[in-house]
Amino acid sequence: MSTFQAPKGTYDLLPPRSATFLAVREAISAPLKNSGYGYIETPGFENVELFSRGVGESTDIVSKEMYTLTTKGGDELALRPEGTASVLRAALQGNLHKLGGLPVKLWYSGSYYRYERAQKGRYRHFSQVGAEAIGAEDPALDAELIILADQAYRSLGLRNFRILLNSLGDKECRPVYREALQAFLGGMDLDEDTVRRAEINPLRVLDDKRDEVQKQLVGAPMLRDYLCDACKAYHEEVRALVTAAGVVFEDDEKLVRGLDYYTRTTFEFVHDGLGSQSAVGGGGRYDGLSEMIGGPALPSVGWALGVDRTVLALEAEGIELDIPSATSVFAVALGGAKPVLFGLVTELRRAGVAADISYGGKGLKGAMKDANRSGARFALVAGDRDLEEGVVQLKDMESGEQTPVALADLVDTVRAKLA
Ligand code: ATP
Ligand code: MG
Repeated sequence: MSTFQAPKGTYDLLPPRSATFLAVREAISAPLKNSGYGYIETPGFENVELFSRGVGESTDIVSKEMYTLTTKGGDELALRPEGTASVLRAALQGNLHKLGGLPVKLWYSGSYYRYERAQKGRYRHFSQVGAEAIGAEDPALDAELIILADQAYRSLGLRNFRILLNSLGDKECRPVYREALQAFLGGMDLDEDTVRRAEINPLRVLDDKRDEVQKQLVGAPMLRDYLCDACKAYHEEVRALVTAAGVVFEDDEKLVRGLDYYTRTTFEFVHDGLGSQSAVGGGGRYDGLSEMIGGPALPSVGWALGVDRTVLALEAEGIELDIPSATSVFAVALGGAKPVLFGLVTELRRAGVAADISYGGKGLKGAMKDANRSGARFALVAGDRDLEEGVVQLKDMESGEQTPVALADLVDTVRAKLA
């Protein structure tokens, strides 16, 4: 073992489990690629102010969880803790909102960093696939995103997840509710931290996981009763469209989510097999974010699904993804046959057949072990005598059957057998 270990709260993705991560990223992005979302990639770090302004000073993400650094040149940067602020920043900088029709629909996949108390399902480096639809206020867009996330999870075979849905109101009705809630919280017996939170961002108190806080919240004013007519109508339409798609959700009037920029639609995907780290993904509408970071008014909606927790959810449901063996043909060279077989492997690879060969000068037994381990469907075995006769032996690893194939016919024969 090396002197070094991966930093606390991080882990390495190693084969074969890493293949599941790739498959999950692929499964989550496939419905997006199929629905008009274009791929975007942004830097792993940004100016710290993008997040303190965009995500919000009062959020856990900014106040406690952000990795910040000062460069040698004096720039204040932060490793990205989430994707939305960066994607919107990039879309504005690239003038995507001016190029053509709105919304601009984007998807991304990458690493995110939060200084958290590390535990199962909660890491300091984790991975998300996300989607953002920028510049349109349309309940169908909110519904589309919820439906696509549901489709992604279902395509993975996941069943024990639930969709929680709420509306946070807008700049008309939320302030009125906020005041009513603050008045109610003022009469509660809260610790210092929570009192401060009640002042800065009272809605977050609803989200408090502690029983003693939840008990006192019985009878608290509910946002649902304060939504303005426009927000109510908008929310009803989102609900109707999602329902019409056959996607089941639960109304959760306490769902607030930890980011300041959300307005109207908010939703979370929770999985019941994950213990306390039950949120596998979440998102919502963020109509004010663009202006908060200095852009024009661009009402938008998006989500991010956590890849790490999605993999844990698969494991919790005992789902093994059907990941085909990486290698189709594995070559085993005997005597002086290595150069010719190496050439054939190159030829197979160029023809699009996944092929590999035994390395390190092993004998027949060791090389056949490599072939077995590779999971290849066929072994390509040849010694000097075979090559003199112009053939190689193609061994079917399932049936054990071995047939000589002329060198010139190899690629076509293998392709036909694999088809
Ligand atoms: P939580 O309430 O569990 O802290 P969150 O609300 O902070 O989650 P979001 O910011 O909405 O999470 O991120 C979307 C998704 O990214 C989460 O649902 C989760 O799957 C994943 N995620 C967030 N933080 C972490 C982390 N520290 N480790 C692993 N996955 C994470
Ligand atoms: Mg969090």
